[in-house]
Amino acid sequence: MGDPVTPLPAGLVGRLATARRVVALTGAGVSAESGVPTFREAQTGLWARFRPEELATPEAFAADPRTVWAWYEWRRDLVAAAAPNPGHHALAQFESLVPGFTLITQNVDGLHARAGSRRVIEFHGNLFTNRCFAGCGAEADVPRPCPEPPRCPHCGAWMRPGVVWFGEAIPIEALQAAKAAVDRCEMLLVIGTSALVTPAAGLALRAHEAGAMVAEINISPTGLDGVAQFRLAGPSGELLPRLVEAVRARREMHS
Ligand code: NAD
Ligand code: ZN
Repeated sequence: MGDPVTPLPAGLVGRLATARRVVALTGAGVSAESGVPTFREAQTGLWARFRPEELATPEAFAADPRTVWAWYEWRRDLVAAAAPNPGHHALAQFESLVPGFTLITQNVDGLHARAGSRRVIEFHGNLFTNRCFAGCGAEADVPRPCPEPPRCPHCGAWMRPGVVWFGEAIPIEALQAAKAAVDRCEMLLVIGTSALVTPAAGLALRAHEAGAMVAEINISPTGLDGVAQFRLAGPSGELLPRLVEAVRARREMHS
């Protein structure tokens, strides 16, 4: 006998089959099956002695830009060698299935875009972009490979990874776009995120209070218990392709 298969709740499939506006909010768990570790998993190898909170901060970069840069270079190498998994591909298919589908991701790995998702709000930026640490406004793609932190072409300061670090605010355009999508949506899918990090966690509550149905896909319980009507326990790389196929079949039945 194999593992018991998590059933797909009929109410969830039915709602997704008729909804016009759906938002998916993804976290590091969606990329775990691509071999990209989440922050809650222990760091491996060379980096096992650091916690991400000791590296992903403006203070850490100011104190030791080369060490922080080297950690990002390691993460960029890891992501560049990884490929989108069936969960990323299923989310790209949702975009063509549901007319008003918006994907909000906390991930910085760019795997949703590589799987074909076109409308992606990158809440925490992207590993493969840079911006000026002195804040002169300069932005650039990261040349690869890039063993040393580059200098800003405008003002000569260090260039830093274009991601949101601990203690920093979400870029205002991303935040506004995310809130607007959540306020209009009929259904919010929260996938592979521990929902501990605000304001992403707040989006789930916001959707719930605005009357949207909230469903969660995660291998472990999260803080969303009081908010999610549906909880699918299992890996997103298995559950999302099944969900998208069930929704597609129901939509074809209705069309
Ligand atoms: P997290 O590390 O706090 O939580 C990951 C969640 O994913 C957990 O709840 C875990 O149970 C779940 N999970 C693990 N494997 C799963 C799977 N196969 N299927 C479904 N769920 C699974 O991640 P977070 O909530 O995204 O927050 C940490 C922050 O760290 C993020 O905001 C992000 O910016 C950053 N981060 C990004 C990446 C990436 O881009 N891939 C990786 C690590 C961390
Ligand atoms: Zn500059």
